[in-house]
Amino acid sequence: MSNYVFLGPPGAGKGTLGELFSRRMGLVHISTGALLREEMSSGSELGLQVKDLISKGGLVSDQIVSAMIAKRLSQPDVLRQGCLLDGYPRTAAQADSLQEILNENQRSLEAAVLIDAERQLLVTRLSARRVCSNKDCGAIYNVQTKPPLKEGVCDRCSSALYQRSDDSEQTARERLRVYEEQTAPLIEYYRQRQLLVITYSKDVEAEENYRCLCEALRQAGKANRGCCAKNKV
Ligand SMILES: [Zn+2]
Repeated sequence: MSNYVFLGPPGAGKGTLGELFSRRMGLVHISTGALLREEMSSGSELGLQVKDLISKGGLVSDQIVSAMIAKRLSQPDVLRQGCLLDGYPRTAAQADSLQEILNENQRSLEAAVLIDAERQLLVTRLSARRVCSNKDCGAIYNVQTKPPLKEGVCDRCSSALYQRSDDSEQTARERLRVYEEQTAPLIEYYRQRQLLVITYSKDVEAEENYRCLCEALRQAGKANRGCCAKNKV
């Protein structure tokens, strides 16, 4: 059971690749956002704390997120199958916590995979997003990669689509700047520990990006347990 961390800028397709990778490798896919929502709806003590914090407009602390991760990583499915972490760790301090959590469970990290992409591609992707204005639908489109059948209209519910202000080009650049500033120390953290594997996602089919990811892992000697069996090009 190998454990992986996936990192990468917004728009690089970390979510899609992460899902593909965990499904094919039989890993438990753990995203911090989903975990927070599950924890809140479970009504656990931790979940109630989080709910309380968010309702007061506060930020969920490192400590709470790490506690939640610790709880999740000690569950039988993760111990048996290994996992892929998406959205955690975000800082070097959290990376230390993750190390401790894995040690306590007699587990280790196989690799921290950075899914990177050309900056211009990211800006284009991030500003190409359109969202359905119907709150109950919430469908997401991309005018380049996943356009609606009729321009400006939701396929599912026929409501108008709009561009969220945080999806504009200027905002996209700002998000990338913030990402780089925050994530640089984390990338360095894993580089120093020889756990960092970098792959570049391109504007191609997900399958092609997946193949590149596997190749990068193989070259780094991090593709154990017969994962990423040579698939046809
Ligand atoms: Zn809709």
